[in-house]
Amino acid sequence: MIKAVRGTRDLLPPDTALWNFVEAAVRDVFRAYNFQEIRTPIFEETALFSRSVGEETDIVSKEMYTWEDRGRAASEKGQSLTLRPEATAGIVRAYIEHKLWDRGLNKLYCIGPMFRRERPQKGRYRQFYQIDAEIIGPASAGSDSPARDAEVLEMLATLLNRLGITDWNLELNSVGCANDRARFNEALRQALKPVVGKMCADCQRRAVTNPLRVFDCKVPEDQPIIEKLPRISQFLDEPCRAHFEAVQEILKSVGVEFQINDRLVRGLDYYTRTAFEFTHGALGAQNAILGGGRYDGLSESLGGPAAPGIGFAIGEDRLVMSLKETAEGVLRKPDVYVAPLGAGMNGEAARLARELRQHDLVVELGDETFRLKKSFEAATKAGAKYILIVGENEVKAGAFALKNLATAEQVQVARGDLAHRIQEK
Ligand code: AMP
Repeated sequence: MIKAVRGTRDLLPPDTALWNFVEAAVRDVFRAYNFQEIRTPIFEETALFSRSVGEETDIVSKEMYTWEDRGRAASEKGQSLTLRPEATAGIVRAYIEHKLWDRGLNKLYCIGPMFRRERPQKGRYRQFYQIDAEIIGPASAGSDSPARDAEVLEMLATLLNRLGITDWNLELNSVGCANDRARFNEALRQALKPVVGKMCADCQRRAVTNPLRVFDCKVPEDQPIIEKLPRISQFLDEPCRAHFEAVQEILKSVGVEFQINDRLVRGLDYYTRTAFEFTHGALGAQNAILGGGRYDGLSESLGGPAAPGIGFAIGEDRLVMSLKETAEGVLRKPDVYVAPLGAGMNGEAARLARELRQHDLVVELGDETFRLKKSFEAATKAGAKYILIVGENEVKAGAFALKNLATAEQVQVARGDLAHRIQEK
């Protein structure tokens, strides 16, 4: 038997109703902040990701699904392509390619699958879904302002609360700018020199090529060493420090709680200044629901104009997981099961079902070959609230037997009153 590939999964009903519920809430909340949707391709040129996310990151060095495409002619070498591991790079590419600043488009979001060859476990998949939003634009439009960072964070708090996820935790840090980073990396190199021999092979490599990435290390034995390393917060220059302060001030003024975590550097190289993660206790080991940050140099590094930006990616799989306990009400069962009784009744039953569906009722429809007992079983299995019997006598009389399956109460209802009666509590 052929099964879904390891790390991928089918999203089945009734869970898909939760996914739709989340996406509808996301679209609604984002609209209030004037975000508009963008859809970018699922695969891009490999260089887009290696140049933006960073060669030394886990994503680029180990986790991308990359292949060489066929060339146009047999002799021609094909392009290197990659399934997108994250959305920001593609959105910034589109921003540059279509000169979106000319159209005043600076608040964009996208929802869709991402691909990373990680070790699958609960909450970690190889095809997973992200809800991604970005504010990007020329500095003259204020896109570098701490007000934008705070706006994005406040929007996320609003979204999570709206979804009924209240016990989240916002962890906040500033990873500084290129200036600070150079000094910080040098200090890290020095601090790592005497201890790096005791660290994992990845850290030994990172210590040479990109010391900041040592903070991504998950190896338990390395953690006491990492705990003692210098922190980026000690290296922020005055403008970065003031920017970070201002973000915190606005968050306090809008009442969004946060904790400073000076170890938080995020696993992607393009981040500058504000970096953040929202975690949720109930999720277990993979407890980050979403992460994001500022990326002021990204557009230029991809050949575009200066365009400071800030964005985030919500792990939709994990968001849906944290929602499950509270979201019973989202799952809509059939309001009524229409049961044709006896030969020739399928047509009448279909007509009635059609009328009821036009009243925004969820209707499940049986078959005239079913005996009454079988119709009752099917209605119960579908979780319908009512069963409606459509036999020859009922059609002639223009009144139908409507039975509440939970209370067993049965009433005769005239055709014209059916929808209203079913909609009643
Ligand atoms: P990142 O793009 O790594 O900053 O991730 C942003 C969010 O996407 C994380 O906080 C997770 O919720 C989610 N995420 C990242 N990788 C995976 C994965 N392999 N499976 C499921 N969710 C993921």
